[in-house]
Amino acid sequence: MATQRMLKFVTTEREMPEKRLPDLRSQDFDEIYREFADAKAAEQSSRCSQCGVPYCQSHCPLHNNIPDWLRMTAEGRLEEAYNLSQATNTFPEICGRICPQDRLCEGNCVIEQSGHGTVTIGSIEKYITDAAWERGWVKPGLPIAERTESVGIIGAGPGGLSAADMLRRQGVQVTVYDRYDRAGGLLTYGIPGFKLEKHVVMRRVEQLEQAGVQFVLNCNVGTDISFDAIRGQHDAVLIATGVYKARDLSGDGIGAQGIVPALAYLTASNRKSFGDEVEAYDNGNLNAAGKRVVVIGGGDTAMDCLRTAIRQGATSVKCLYRRDRANMPGSQRETQNAEEEGVEFNWLTAPKGFVGTDHVEGVIVQKMRLGPPDVSGRQAPEIIEGGDYVEPADLVITALGFEPEDLPSHWSAPDLGTTRWGTVKADFRSHATNIPGVYAVGDIVRGASLVVWAIRDGREAAGAILDYLAAPAAVAAE
Ligand SMILES: Cc1cc2nc3c(=O)[nH]c(=O)nc-3n(C[C@H](O)[C@H](O)[C@H](O)COP(=O)(O)OP(=O)(O)OC[C@H]3O[C@@H](n4cnc5c(N)ncnc54)[C@H](O)[C@@H]3O)c2cc1C
Ligand code: SF4
Repeated sequence: MATQRMLKFVTTEREMPEKRLPDLRSQDFDEIYREFADAKAAEQSSRCSQCGVPYCQSHCPLHNNIPDWLRMTAEGRLEEAYNLSQATNTFPEICGRICPQDRLCEGNCVIEQSGHGTVTIGSIEKYITDAAWERGWVKPGLPIAERTESVGIIGAGPGGLSAADMLRRQGVQVTVYDRYDRAGGLLTYGIPGFKLEKHVVMRRVEQLEQAGVQFVLNCNVGTDISFDAIRGQHDAVLIATGVYKARDLSGDGIGAQGIVPALAYLTASNRKSFGDEVEAYDNGNLNAAGKRVVVIGGGDTAMDCLRTAIRQGATSVKCLYRRDRANMPGSQRETQNAEEEGVEFNWLTAPKGFVGTDHVEGVIVQKMRLGPPDVSGRQAPEIIEGGDYVEPADLVITALGFEPEDLPSHWSAPDLGTTRWGTVKADFRSHATNIPGVYAVGDIVRGASLVVWAIRDGREAAGAILDYLAAPAAVAAE
């Protein structure tokens, strides 16, 4: 009996490797790992209760059919899940990475509301599309037939690129103009690589090129080419230029070296990750390594600067924000990430001035408290007299938000309608401006907003532009 058991054991031991080895040789380890990853994604997707009241979907600006692609992922139908997810989102793997899901889809997940922790919708959206790229399911949007009409898009951020994709799929001749040397807008030069890897953006740009979208880079409209010339060359024009004017900070000593705007700091870091020569980074001006860093502001841009400084090897990284944690404009998830990485938050503090003669040596900080609500309904910060102190700093990064540039002046286009905030005035649904055949989307219309909203605007505007190209006079007269 014992011998029999031993024999059986030995047989099993000999059979198993023989059976498994050929499989191991024919698969590479990525594929083996992928099987586990697919199973993990399926397991997480199966947590969706298919509640029938998809608040996640209604709180996604693109109204992605989340419950259905979660079900498909849970059932192992990954390609179908990808097809469904990309039907409503031009860049699902980008949104999966950088949407503030806690404020959008995941924050409204019924499982989350019932206290069991959200289904991680964003990670699954990213996973499905990354898998689709690896497995060759993501194809350039080549048109079935070419059309003669052309559209000029000013700005190669997510708003402009999503419109370019939709228009090109319909055979329209699309040219995208951008003042930077690479396309992608803030996806490329604003959002840090640890949140959104740059190759993820670049492969999308390359695919648009393969589909026939023309890119004219290093072309600042209003300087290198006039807005009128672009209108003259195309049947319709889309403005997707974003908002880039940094809000100013005042106070004694503001002109000292070492006080830098957030976007210059982040752009330098992103350029380095492309392998570019960046003098201001190499000479230390835009590099936090070995420095005491203070970031002023409480939005997502401030969080990106804080987390970048940590990665660059700053000796200390502190955030000054004039309200409290509950009243921060940024995502709570981002704040928590920053805290976990070692950032120190000094709530209810604001800069009063800066010490240091040529180079900044510290921030004069005044303590604040929250007073009665202002006209916006938010409690207004008030100064606590006598509470000032100096926070030592070698690098101060200001991240107080962005405003639109004055496009009508910059482009010699006084007719272009703008709002009192300087954003371009455009119809809420069609995105048409007051100039026939000229449309506008993304941050330049909404003010500083989110990638997912720019994508939605771009997709909607493409639809409206197609209607306009089909019957320009009729649409313009509406
Ligand atoms: C640091 C930072 C981090 C962010 N993080 C997130 C995030 O995690 N998640 C999220 O959803 N959103 C985030 N955002 C916001 C998001 O990036 C924007 O809402 C989004 O990129 C807006 O898209 P857009 O196409 O309107 O403009 P942009 O992405 O700003 O693109 C506009 C493009 O127009 C070009 N342009 C401007 N003027 C001209 C001109 N005169 N001629 C030619 N080209 C011109 C610019 O070079 C740029 O490439 C972040 C923003 C910043 C600044
Ligand atoms: S696009 Fe953004 S909000 Fe919509 S499902 Fe994806 S991560 Fe959520």
